[in-house]
Amino acid sequence: MKNFLDENFLLQTKTAQRLYHDYAAGMPIIDYHSHLPPDQIAADINFDNLTHIWLRGDHYKWRAMRANGINEAYITGNKNDLEKFEQWAATVPYTLRNPLYHWTHLELQRYFDIHDLLSPATAAKIYDDCTAKLQSPDYSVRKLISNKKVEVICTTDDPLDSLSHHQKLKDDAYTVKVLPTFRPDKAMNADDVPALNSYITQLETITNSSINNFDSYLQALKTRHDYFAANGCKLSDHGLEQLYAEDYTDKEIASIFKKIKNNQHLLPGEIVKFKSAMLYNFALWDHEKGWVQQFHLGALRNNSTRALQELGPDTGGDSIGDFAQGKSLSKFLDKLDSKNKLAKTILYNLNPADNELMAAMTGNFNDGSVAGKIQFGSAWWFLDQKDGMTKQLNALSNIGLLSRMVGMLTDSRSFMSFPRHEYFRRIVCNLFGDDIENGELPNDMELTGKIIQDICYNNAKNYFNF
Ligand SMILES: [Zn+2]
Repeated sequence: MKNFLDENFLLQTKTAQRLYHDYAAGMPIIDYHSHLPPDQIAADINFDNLTHIWLRGDHYKWRAMRANGINEAYITGNKNDLEKFEQWAATVPYTLRNPLYHWTHLELQRYFDIHDLLSPATAAKIYDDCTAKLQSPDYSVRKLISNKKVEVICTTDDPLDSLSHHQKLKDDAYTVKVLPTFRPDKAMNADDVPALNSYITQLETITNSSINNFDSYLQALKTRHDYFAANGCKLSDHGLEQLYAEDYTDKEIASIFKKIKNNQHLLPGEIVKFKSAMLYNFALWDHEKGWVQQFHLGALRNNSTRALQELGPDTGGDSIGDFAQGKSLSKFLDKLDSKNKLAKTILYNLNPADNELMAAMTGNFNDGSVAGKIQFGSAWWFLDQKDGMTKQLNALSNIGLLSRMVGMLTDSRSFMSFPRHEYFRRIVCNLFGDDIENGELPNDMELTGKIIQDICYNNAKNYFNF
């Protein structure tokens, strides 16, 4: 029997172990998509205790606790940090076979050198040991990042963000590049006209302009796009149910914008046309600047009205949707490609049924200008686990070129998520190791090792050009 979570965790063969330890393990990390709060990195804060760093913002853990029957008071409510931690510790043994069981113990090992299993019996000691460490200078957030061989982090930012924290980090000459990502979801959210109007008002203030029509709206947003570029931004990101690629005329969009400004209700067809126009323009700017555009497609958000009202958005009420992806995605990419305006693009799907669809779609628009120009992004959110990653990697291998993949990202709000790269690398090495030992790939460690290093790091380095 193998040991739990030892140095050969997830590495089932001798070849996989060699590939991981000799080639993958030492590679640096480029974390090109995350939700780490730049203010906390800029201030270089320390977390008070394990509850703060683990449980304050992690909706994966919240959902597990709810599924385990824990009262909300111990999850997002007013119980104290220790009480919340005790309930998490009581939940962990019930997360067997859920990826949280792996993440939790991997993080205890990699950050705290703790090899005990978390349970009510070990909770007090683990909490005290970790709290003491977290409060020491070696555990400030900048150290938590730089100790993991991270070279670049991309945060996710609204176009209205001042980026002052990114600027401070640059001024401080922090060894890790912390770069913004332009995520204009709110700027195109015509589902909520009053919120969009208040967004437009804020944009007017920030850009010192008056926005009376669609053209001036685009103009003002473009100055923010330029501003992000001046602050080191190289990526955009969009979180959408599906790509919007309706046909529209300039006249139609002008009149829809007028309705928005007048706070008038929009018809569903108008909303889709507006979003289509916004996405198209964002895509043109991304191409112009040589950025990479990312699309996270397929989340069905805010399913529970009760949870939304009590806790707000992004608190664990989102799940996998079944939106049709293929046709509009194809139309959107084709419109840009046919005008030679298609930027480098990464597509992420939340519904695993779309894996092969996404892998196949990327192949339509590669044009030989850049290796892996259109990427099938790594397994995301609910799919960010052994089974989901394996399926994504297999779909990409079978339909595209795994060797050109830009690899893993944390997509995390937590400063202790960097072992996810290690987790991904182990799975990649295990897949190659199996194939080599089965005689399905040649036993060429030099070739395979190089390709693994490319997937872990080199491809991302060349692709993003940070
Ligand atoms: Zn994300």
